[in-house]
Amino acid sequence: MSTSQGKLVIFSAPSGSGKSTLVQYLLKEVPGFAFSISATSRAPRGTEKDGVDYYFLSNEAFQQRVAEEAFLEWEEVYPGTCYGTLKSEVEKRWAAGQAVAFDIDVVGGKNLKARYGEHALALFIQAPSIEELERRLIVRGTDSSDKIKQRIEKASWEMDQSPFFDHTIINDDLDRAKAEAKKLLIEFLAK
Ligand code: 5GP
Repeated sequence: MSTSQGKLVIFSAPSGSGKSTLVQYLLKEVPGFAFSISATSRAPRGTEKDGVDYYFLSNEAFQQRVAEEAFLEWEEVYPGTCYGTLKSEVEKRWAAGQAVAFDIDVVGGKNLKARYGEHALALFIQAPSIEELERRLIVRGTDSSDKIKQRIEKASWEMDQSPFFDHTIINDDLDRAKAEAKKLLIEFLAK
C-alpha cells in the first residue's frame, strides 16, 4: 500500500522558466498532493490574493514568524524580500494524507532535498536558455526592468545547481515537459 503522507515534492526553477504553468497542470492531473502556500514579505502582483497565492506579510510580521520558529525553511530570496514555508501548512497536508508540494527557490529546494532525502522528489525546471528566460520575463510584464535584471543575474547561478536535484526538466516544449513531470510524480507518489 502506498501513502502520500510524509512525502514532499519540490519544484525549483529560475523565475520565468514556466514552472507555474507546469505546476498548475500537475495539480489538475495528479491526485494525492497539494501545495504548501508560502509566506512572503513582497507585495501582491496583479491578481494575486492573500491566503491563495501567498500569505502576504509585512517585513515585521515575517520576522516575527521567524522568531516564533513558525517556518520549516525561509530565505531572503531577493535582497529585502523573504519567502518561507510555514510548518503549519505542511502539517495540515500531511495530516490529510497528502504529499506536500513546494514552489520554492533553488537554495530552499536544495536544502529541503538534503534534509528529506528519499522522502522528497526534487524537480528542477529549466528554461532552454538565459536569453529565453529574459524574453519570457519581459513578455510576462509583471516586473520592472531592474527586477528582471536581478532575476536574470540570479538565474545563471541557479542553473548550475540542477545536479543537486533528482531530475531536471527542460521546459522547451511544454507538452513534453508536462508528460515527463506527470510520469515522475505518479511514480514517486505510488512508491
Ligand atoms: P515570486 O516572487 O516570483 O512569486 O517568487 C520568487 C521566488 O521565491 C521563486 O523562486 C519561488 O519559488 C520562491 N519561493 C516561493 N515561496 C518560497 C518559500 O516558501 N521558500 C523559499 N525558499 N522560496 C520560495
